[in-house]
Amino acid sequence: MKATRFIEVGQPIQLVDLPDPEVGPTEVLVRISGAGVCHSDLHVIDGEVGVRQKPITLGHENAGIVERVGSLVTEVKPGDGVAVFGAWGCGVCALCEQGEENLCQKPIYPGVMVDGGWAEKLLVPHPRNLVKLNGLDPVIAAPLTDAALTPYRAVRKALSRLGPGRTLAIIGVGGLGHMALQIARALTPATQLIAIDVSDAKLAMAKELGADHCINAQTEVGAAVKAATGGAGADAVIDFVGNDATLANAVASVAIAGKLVVVGIAGGTLPFSFWKIPLECEVTTSIWGNRRELKDVLELARRGLIAPHIERQPLSAINEVIARLHAGDVRGRVVLTP
Ligand SMILES: [Zn+2]
Ligand SMILES: [Zn+2]
Repeated sequence: MKATRFIEVGQPIQLVDLPDPEVGPTEVLVRISGAGVCHSDLHVIDGEVGVRQKPITLGHENAGIVERVGSLVTEVKPGDGVAVFGAWGCGVCALCEQGEENLCQKPIYPGVMVDGGWAEKLLVPHPRNLVKLNGLDPVIAAPLTDAALTPYRAVRKALSRLGPGRTLAIIGVGGLGHMALQIARALTPATQLIAIDVSDAKLAMAKELGADHCINAQTEVGAAVKAATGGAGADAVIDFVGNDATLANAVASVAIAGKLVVVGIAGGTLPFSFWKIPLECEVTTSIWGNRRELKDVLELARRGLIAPHIERQPLSAINEVIARLHAGDVRGRVVLTP
């Protein structure tokens, strides 16, 4: 099978031929229809997030068609369309027992610890890591497994603050942010939505996706959010970037007793003290999502309530795609279609 290989920081990704993986008794081999290229892959490529083995095939947003199943697998069969739930937990710790595999302390993420989906085929350790698509196009489903699942969990964390007369501000209208706008619109239609980004092109997309206000982050963001909310600030803010500048804008934008959800892993610091954030403002992080939430996200897509903006590219275009993602020159999500 053809597979892309990340060899070392600073080297281009290579496209190589590898033998098909052996399929063990509980494993499933999936022929990849779509594999998303995510901003967090850049953190791996740049060496900010370490991988467990090199070379490794990256790619944690995967969907496709079941090609082969292990002798003990009965849940799926060859020919089934499946989304790959990517937060592969250990399955036995307290958090995995609760279904929160995305919080497992010993995860085996594809594309970080073991080979991921930027290839023609992906070996999945267990059928519990698959969700049947029931008619949904796997190329559409691939980015939903992270670019929609992650904002879905983050929006749900903020839902208690949202509704008629309330405001949600979304910082960063990239692969995740453009899905967050649609998810918020679907889950809480009466909430006012504010989109914040440094790119006017991305803000134009946010407008198309139903944002009520768009604010360029090169202006005074906090003041603009206050102006759009009668001086109160946004009841919830989700930061999909997470650098020093966006976290400062988030604090300047959030209301008293509001909620700030940090999703972006850019590594910025939020100065936190009693008086440095609005009174009784709650701050939390949110990471990926669990399998139950992935099922919810796929249902939103089947019902036509959310739809990722997708650009299809072959595996051979991977280095060019990475360069464009670095430059902020991708609208929505690039999906590799081997
Ligand atoms: Zn990702
Ligand atoms: Zn676990």
